[in-house]
Amino acid sequence: MQLPREVIVGKGVLSRVGETCRRLGFSGSILIVTDSNVQSIGAAPVGESLKNSGFKVQKMLVKSSSIPQVREVEREIEKLKPSVVMAVGGGSDIDIAKLSSANKGIPFLSIPTAASHDGIASPVVSMKGHRKPYSFMAQSPIAIIADVGIIAHAPFRLLASGCSDVVGKYTSVRDWKLAHRIKNEYYGDYAADLALMSARLVMRNARIVKSMSETGIRTIVEALVSCGVAMSIAGSSRPCSGAEHLFGHALDVTAPHPALHGEQVGVGTIMCAHLHGANWELIRDVLQRIGAPTNARELGIESKYLIKALTIAHKIRPDRYTILGEKGLTRKAAERVAKATGVIE
Ligand SMILES: [Zn+2]
Repeated sequence: MQLPREVIVGKGVLSRVGETCRRLGFSGSILIVTDSNVQSIGAAPVGESLKNSGFKVQKMLVKSSSIPQVREVEREIEKLKPSVVMAVGGGSDIDIAKLSSANKGIPFLSIPTAASHDGIASPVVSMKGHRKPYSFMAQSPIAIIADVGIIAHAPFRLLASGCSDVVGKYTSVRDWKLAHRIKNEYYGDYAADLALMSARLVMRNARIVKSMSETGIRTIVEALVSCGVAMSIAGSSRPCSGAEHLFGHALDVTAPHPALHGEQVGVGTIMCAHLHGANWELIRDVLQRIGAPTNARELGIESKYLIKALTIAHKIRPDRYTILGEKGLTRKAAERVAKATGVIE
């Protein structure tokens, strides 16, 4: 089990990055992976705090989440030999820094500027163009420092997407239990309960989350961190990624213009809850309350791509048994569940 040693969530906490790194025993140089959008609001205060604590700081601006970009950061790590690599930014920055640091055996520290998915605190990475079209293990962040003031200023769509990713645990945990019963797969009560509790917390507090208040942001950030910890405890993404995620990853393949990760997972959760015979209306209502997409039209994806994704989702990751079974859904069954849940008309 690899777990984060420190989680700091609050307003104006970026000024504490330097002292936190000292406390964690880092010294010498630190590499910051960031992007041009958050350079001034996030990377600048982090850099200042690190310099005040006597660190040598090197910043690297990345553009998209891609393997060539990961290699570039790895070359920089070889050159600079930093004591820790930190990501200051959104999903791409975090994925790139997490994977490149893991590949080079250097600790990783996560400083999210948006709460768009559970990758901010998890040991897993999701990257297009990688040989795996789904999330895979890299390493857990040694610490997570989340400034709710900065996250509150990120576009609301990102926060709503993060909520949908957490709500997805409602079905991913059911899939895990199913795989345990049918395939005798290892099942950990603690990790499963932690993931499910995060989903329930966000579902219960949908209105507060939507208000973008400090409490609302804190709720979603803490839920995302708990999901990351659940994955660290399980040693895989199992507690947090079931058929709703396979569907989301499949949409990335079939749709010419995919939506955000959490948005696709949210819509997948509605349909997978229906397949499980669970309360899918509750999921739909919660997502609506949050202001997240609940159907094909709101995702901006044509029905035909969505149906195709449902029929190929089981092939994305054949080792992961879910409610979709080993043979997946037929076209007819896919249309039936999508129509029954109002995801397509
Ligand atoms: Zn996810």
